[in-house]
Amino acid sequence: MPLLIKNGRVLDPASGTDAMLDVLIDGGKILELRKQITATGSMQVIDAAGLIVAPGLIDMHTHLREPGQEYKETIHTGARAAAAGGFTSIACMPNTSPVNDNASVTNFIMHQARTEACVNVYPVGALTMGLKGEALAEYGDMKEAGIVALSDDGKTVKSAEVMRRCLEYAKTFSLPVICHCEDADLAARGMMHEGIVSTRLGMRGIAPAAEELIVAREIALAEWVGHPVHIAHVSTSGSVRIIREAKARGVAVTAETAPHYFTLTDDAVASFDTATKVNPPLRTQQDLDAIRQGLKDGTLDVIASDHAPHSSLEKDVEFDHAAFGMIGLETSLSLTLSLVSEGVLTLMQAFEKYTVNPARILNLSKGRIQAGGDGDITIIDTQAEYVMDRGRLFSKSSNSPFIGRHLKGRAAYSIVAGSIIYPFAD
Ligand SMILES: [Zn+2]
Ligand SMILES: [Zn+2]
Repeated sequence: MPLLIKNGRVLDPASGTDAMLDVLIDGGKILELRKQITATGSMQVIDAAGLIVAPGLIDMHTHLREPGQEYKETIHTGARAAAAGGFTSIACMPNTSPVNDNASVTNFIMHQARTEACVNVYPVGALTMGLKGEALAEYGDMKEAGIVALSDDGKTVKSAEVMRRCLEYAKTFSLPVICHCEDADLAARGMMHEGIVSTRLGMRGIAPAAEELIVAREIALAEWVGHPVHIAHVSTSGSVRIIREAKARGVAVTAETAPHYFTLTDDAVASFDTATKVNPPLRTQQDLDAIRQGLKDGTLDVIASDHAPHSSLEKDVEFDHAAFGMIGLETSLSLTLSLVSEGVLTLMQAFEKYTVNPARILNLSKGRIQAGGDGDITIIDTQAEYVMDRGRLFSKSSNSPFIGRHLKGRAAYSIVAGSIIYPFAD
């Protein structure tokens, strides 16, 4: 049945459109976009008065844990968490078990995505076999099977020489490379940001330089090889500065940060809440300010959740022994909208980081509202206020420091190919 979205404020960063328009979707595609489309009896109608109508949001950095750790998350539950958070497309990292380093694993993920997921799922393939940083993975086969990018996320390719070969090989397949930047020796056994708070708590720290060294290395290699890199989860002011400088010189580098890096500082770790243990770690107020400035001036192109589900087995333990990571699919949009209400970003800038920018980096024909384009839409109520409680999470895991937090702004509808997938029918 055709779907007509009426009376909404359409925000499309790709075209710069910000206008009251109706959107008609049929056959999975956007058929028409104009003022006052008249509803007919054969149409399903959403009244979007007072709501924002945006291109379907894209989260280019999630961990879905399937195959291998289905007790934490599955492609089915992760996709539902995404839809509830306003996302219609997500990219999932290859650090599953087995690792997505060959076409048979990619095929399995694609199959599960087709049969189990309510959103579009785009697998990211590993740079190296088993994420070991040694032999290169099977890029061509994985690309044919459906991967959209390459990454050893969770780890840095330790050898610069191997990383150079990864970039050269990725270039032959035109696959973007996403870099998890952390010098393993410098960060070894670190639990949190190295600074005043870690000293006070007596915890081993991770110096900002551990991230910045590798950010600089990846940029130097990208420049030399002539193939773009995308820097994942930027957490330090130094990284923002290095990326800004490289962009100014015309180097093909893009970057993302995650909502926790512009919302929380290492002070949150003093609670010993293991949900605050993330990699890279929560940094200082000065870093948080630099991340916000980087988002504002465009140094940071994308906001991505780095959704990293863990069960109580990994999190209800001493801080030292807890796994790194927090979930984020269901809080990212609200936390980003708070940057808008604080005046850091305009609504257009905020949505750019979830639509046209990740689509461009991953070469997806998504992230815009235009006639003939895919009928993926997110409708947002920027005024909805709620408390994030554990009971309302659709993720299988609940490792989030934002549980109990009062939030404002959330998805009212998520629409994939013209079908309303959220609110859920069941
Ligand atoms: Zn990572
Ligand atoms: Zn990650």
